[in-house]
Amino acid sequence: MKSVLDNVRVVLVNTSHPGNIGAAARAMKNMGLTRLYLVDPKHFPAERAVWRAANAADVLANAVVVDTLEEAIGDCGLVVGTSARDRRIPWPALSPRECGETVCREAGQHEVAIVFGREDRGLTNDELQCCTYHVHIPANPDYSSLNLAAAVQVLCYEVRVAYLAIAGGDDVGGWDVPPAKTAELELYYRHLEEALTDLGFHDPDNPRQTMARLRRLFVRIRPDTMELSIMRGVLTAIQNAVHRLDKSSEK
Ligand code: SAH
Repeated sequence: MKSVLDNVRVVLVNTSHPGNIGAAARAMKNMGLTRLYLVDPKHFPAERAVWRAANAADVLANAVVVDTLEEAIGDCGLVVGTSARDRRIPWPALSPRECGETVCREAGQHEVAIVFGREDRGLTNDELQCCTYHVHIPANPDYSSLNLAAAVQVLCYEVRVAYLAIAGGDDVGGWDVPPAKTAELELYYRHLEEALTDLGFHDPDNPRQTMARLRRLFVRIRPDTMELSIMRGVLTAIQNAVHRLDKSSEK
């Protein structure tokens, strides 16, 4: 029988040590998760990954290897990015417990991703800004960076706890239209930047934090696909008006 957990994927970005990939696969399978995505791993496939996976070699064998984060999360309606420390622009955040609950609730409706960063540098700001929420495991503030696979274990455990609490995981909240997927949001942000540039509001050569702040605004709103297509229509109308004005002033 298909479970909500089948709609949850763990995404590891640019992992250096194949042992961590294997240990993450094991951590996932122990908690009932099976869908592993690897974004441009340094060494994979690798024997070391298979050893560390123990009886989760099937999770490794079925891992989807892609070149970019966009490919790994494009079809997801909820993306949670993990971070070992606070970042410059605060983002909507979940505790690990809330993360487990939100992931389980939404996985009944659409694809969900939990994204983990590089062993040495974590996720970049651009990568974190592709995420709906951020989650931080409240570890010792003097040493808050967990081993990658240990962080995967903690968050997969929280997904498991939430899954068991809703007994089968079909307790999903209703909304009439599905949330916009990551790939649709990325197209929207591109369109928004174009329209704001045409309008003379935004200067791509001196962007400052405008687009990051606008992204965060839309992340907080979490537009559904219908709302997003209305906004795309508004942007096109703005662009058409600007072009008409430009043409008439050329006359
Ligand atoms: N030096 C890096 C640490 C990366 S640890 C940094 O400062 O960002 C590797 C990955 O493990 C992180 O990208 C994150 O996905 C996960 N991780 C480690 N500690 C975490 C924590 N306390 N909370 C959430 N994720 C954590």
